Amino acid sequence: MKVNADLHIHGKYSQGVSNKMEIPVIASESQKKGIDIVGTGDILNPRWMQHVKKETNGEGLRKHDQTYFALTTEVEDENRVHHLLIFPSMSEVEAAYHDFKQISKDIRSEGRPRIQASGTKIAELAEKHGALTGPAHIFTPYTGIYGNHDSLQQCYTNCTDTINFLELGLSADSRMASQISGHNEISLLSNSDAHSPWPHRLGREFNTFKLKQYSFKHLKKSIQKGPAKNIGLDPREGKYHRTACNRCYKQYSLKQAEKQAWKCRECGSRIKKGVKDRVKELKDQKPTSRPEYLHLPPLSNIIQQLEGHSSPTTKTVQRRWRNLYNKLGSEAYILVDADITEIEEVDEEVAIAVNKFRNGKYDFVEGGGGNYGKIII
Ligand SMILES: [Zn+2]
Ligand SMILES: [Zn+2]
Repeated sequence: MKVNADLHIHGKYSQGVSNKMEIPVIASESQKKGIDIVGTGDILNPRWMQHVKKETNGEGLRKHDQTYFALTTEVEDENRVHHLLIFPSMSEVEAAYHDFKQISKDIRSEGRPRIQASGTKIAELAEKHGALTGPAHIFTPYTGIYGNHDSLQQCYTNCTDTINFLELGLSADSRMASQISGHNEISLLSNSDAHSPWPHRLGREFNTFKLKQYSFKHLKKSIQKGPAKNIGLDPREGKYHRTACNRCYKQYSLKQAEKQAWKCRECGSRIKKGVKDRVKELKDQKPTSRPEYLHLPPLSNIIQQLEGHSSPTTKTVQRRWRNLYNKLGSEAYILVDADITEIEEVDEEVAIAVNKFRNGKYDFVEGGGGNYGKIII
């Protein structure tokens, strides 16, 4: 069967995360988005662990209503690199908690704990507990592996071969990541890193897997094989796509930025190297063939543009979104699978826009310096 999975989100105990990020809300919003398997996020946090235990049932993949939850967490290593872990069972989560709490001061309070250890040590602990692991949002300048290292080996040393996947992050897609030969044998995942359950956050990027049945064992196989499809933002929409000032967002070429010693000409603040330029520095081969990557923005962002609103959470945008959902089904179905004529019957303007996105006929104001890009329909 074909399932959609978003394996990286955060619960309400993580910094800067909406109070609404609780299991029942995440479960019901995932259904509306068309996400079948969602990560619990933050599973090493004791309070979140209790919440997950209380609200879900089952072993490796736990369930709340119709939504399956994979036991996931993100951790930060001593070099500020972020790693994603997917555990096989609650008992391994508990065992891993006892190992990780020896090397973390904030594991009880934070959803995404800081670990006083290297990427290698984290990969070792993941393997010890049967967890799948890989670096999160790999090109993100502050906390991605390539913000701190020039290769996977530099981070994971003798454990590099145990890495199961790389997470692309919002500012990159598989075409960009496939230009680095060190990635050749590794699956590329696209996840949302959602901090709120709004439909333009949760599941804004996801993976389509072929799955034999709902179990950790089968999810593991599917992840190792790689997704059948990645669905996510156009990298130009990501907030770190271009090299740009982190205060006024003025964009620079790599050469210009170097010439100015990474100081903004306009406001004097720091220029942050964008993902596009970072890939240029690291690439050592032509893009290789990877599963199809569909560049689709969240439906509420499409409606927001059509309405000319500054936010996708306005009542008008949400009403129009709900109308489509009530008549057609989940957002993933509308964006990826529905016949354009079927959408047309409900909302002609949205049908035309979705068709444009499916065919790559749109433009962007590119993001950079921490500022999201903008769709131009
Ligand atoms: Zn992160
Ligand atoms: Zn500036």
